[in-house]
Amino acid sequence: MCDLTAKVAVITGASRGIGQGIALSFAKHGAKLVVNATSQESILDTMEQLRSLGTQAVAVIGDVAEAETSERLVEQALHSYGSLDIAVSCAGINMDGMLHKMTDEQWKRVLDVDLTAAFYLIRSASQIMRQQGSGRILTISSAAWLGNLGQANYAAAKAGLVALTNTAARELGRYHITCNTICPGLIETDMTAHMPVQAREEMCRRIPLQHTGDPLDIGNAAVFLASEAASYITGEVLNVGGGLIL
Ligand code: NAP
Repeated sequence: MCDLTAKVAVITGASRGIGQGIALSFAKHGAKLVVNATSQESILDTMEQLRSLGTQAVAVIGDVAEAETSERLVEQALHSYGSLDIAVSCAGINMDGMLHKMTDEQWKRVLDVDLTAAFYLIRSASQIMRQQGSGRILTISSAAWLGNLGQANYAAAKAGLVALTNTAARELGRYHITCNTICPGLIETDMTAHMPVQAREEMCRRIPLQHTGDPLDIGNAAVFLASEAASYITGEVLNVGGGLIL
């Protein structure tokens, strides 16, 4: 039902955590990949795992906050495979702080990496997908998009992602391109490894399924949304968090 055989996907932030989970899930379902991270060293582990699965994959190194990184990702997909079927904007950072103490740098950098980068990728990918008359675009938001203590920058970026993705869904639907957002709950990655213990415990208490998630949980949801099985789903926010948001 969720076959991605011969589909070509670009994924930002694929060196670890959720982006790596999505890359490995796509690979297991037959996709060919262009994966991105900030350095050759950081993407090495993902490339080795993809190689051991027998997946065709190339890495494009670059900061997603720069528009040219997205342009290179799309060019690489066309150069290596001749098409682009799926674009996933996953790279993200957080630089937390209470609003009254948040610096301009904290605000700007998180907005650049977590929101503007998705705009760059959607803009570049949609030019090809419009010509093809097909495509899948996925963005990775967060339960924090509804507002979260100490995360004004992150929450604003993640809420912006929902609006951006839904706007893309409206504009690109006529070209048979679907655009959806995944909202992970609390997933075990480097990003959540250093959460304050109290905040983590409080969040865990609110999860009806009573455990945290794995990057492959998000990978499974991404495979579904990228597949033919989800061809009539666009402009949706899919919560994958064990019921954290109810
Ligand atoms: P993570 O383990 O910290 O991984 C972050 C990824 O983003 C890495 O691949 C990193 O590459 C890449 N990255 C960071 N800055 C980048 C930049 N400027 N240019 C290119 N790549 C960059 O984080 P994660 O938990 O997997 O999070 C992935 C996404 O899911 C983020 O958008 C995050 O906001 C979202 N999310 C996570 C959770 C969660 O519970 N973990 C919940 C909700 C939403 P390098 O290795 O090269 O640094």
